[in-house]
Amino acid sequence: MEHQLLSVAIDDTDSQYGGCTTHLTGLILKELGNRALLADYPLLVRLNPNIPWRTRGNAATVLRLLYDGDPKELMETLWSIIEEYTEPRPPLPGKSPGLVVAPGRPWESERLRWLYRKALSDVVTLDVATESLSKYGALWRGGRGVIGAASSLAALSPGEPYTFELTFYRRPENWGSRRCVYSDKVAYLEGQSSSTLNNLEIDEGTTSAAPGGPDPVLAGFRGTDPGELWRFDEALCERPHFAVLYRSNQHTGVHLQAQEPRIYRSVNITVTVRSPPLKLPGGHVIVEVSDGMNSYDAAFYEDSGPLARAAELLYPGDVIIIAGGVRPYSPRGKLTISVEAMKVVGVAQRRVQVPPRCPRCGARMESLGRGKGYRCPRCGLRSSGHKQSLVVERELLPGSYYYKIGRARHLSPVGARLPTMDRLPVTINVSDVLRVY
Ligand code: ATP
Repeated sequence: MEHQLLSVAIDDTDSQYGGCTTHLTGLILKELGNRALLADYPLLVRLNPNIPWRTRGNAATVLRLLYDGDPKELMETLWSIIEEYTEPRPPLPGKSPGLVVAPGRPWESERLRWLYRKALSDVVTLDVATESLSKYGALWRGGRGVIGAASSLAALSPGEPYTFELTFYRRPENWGSRRCVYSDKVAYLEGQSSSTLNNLEIDEGTTSAAPGGPDPVLAGFRGTDPGELWRFDEALCERPHFAVLYRSNQHTGVHLQAQEPRIYRSVNITVTVRSPPLKLPGGHVIVEVSDGMNSYDAAFYEDSGPLARAAELLYPGDVIIIAGGVRPYSPRGKLTISVEAMKVVGVAQRRVQVPPRCPRCGARMESLGRGKGYRCPRCGLRSSGHKQSLVVERELLPGSYYYKIGRARHLSPVGARLPTMDRLPVTINVSDVLRVY
């Protein structure tokens, strides 16, 4: 039989008790190894991070294959693998796996590209996802996971920026126990590399590549050069089960596109600062901003590091572009935008009112109280005088501000130059993206 292009997309196969869609995808890749050729790297697609019903990072996966069998049979085989994987772990109410098998080049379909863009920054309903699939001619099965699976089909098309994540998975007997990753070695490898991204928290000297929790991920290292990423297996002090190299939209900032803030959206809007920054006891910074129509509370979280420090220097009248997620709470009566990145476009002039200088000795005078004039602390001269308005030099510089390295959210941009793919399909060997230990 002729090989045909098929995309297999999966989502929502994890539960709060463990499991992970990317892990299952690695198992499927092992299973398909000798029947299919890869027409792209396995894809790790992050969708709108502000969807409340995600388990962790709102990830779906796609395998673009050159396949020599019947798509319907493939669908049945994969569905039984999904059932076997998910049955031992009960999902939270409303969660249910989704599987899509789509022929051809979904990344060229207008409708599926629209669906991907929408799912990155907004809420997609199941009927919109399935209507898109039926118009395109794809097969699907399952529940809510079909939304993420359908929406990911057109991700990472030629010309779009991408990064890699090399994910190491744990042997089942280790699930739930403490992970063993040498942070020192991660720091050393990061120091040697010019292409890795967000793997280390410099201040704490710990690695952000290793998650907590019961899921099967040992560590996921991010960067733009697969050769440098594979070296990170030297940083593991626990023998992995297998590793998968994913091409991903992580750290590309593609989700930050909606212009009109609505709950659960990821937005990218130009606003003017309306209030001086309010620093909360935990170090978070809240600034009131306006887009000309409505005002919002922009929240800069303490763990964002340089981003929150820059927010402390904002001043009414500054013009900024903020990118982040719209949260469903509004403690001050306004929607809250949780900021992931900020561009300072224009810095307003800041003036302060100060007492006049002493006409006799030139020292700065002191106020004697409202309407009572001024007195010179150096020569004692009293005078009625008038306050002076002085321009204060602003510390905040125009430019882009991001989360601290090691703390950036999955999709948040980190200011790195990223590669693009110039054509699809390509030929990838399974042995280049899957290693069993
Ligand atoms: P893991 O990364 O371990 O798979 P997760 O955080 O990705 O966990 P999921 O299990 O994928 O969580 O759950 C996310 C759910 O939200 C899926 O059912 C997916 O179909 C759905 N979903 C994803 N994006 C959107 C969106 N934009 N609108 C509506 N639903 C979405």
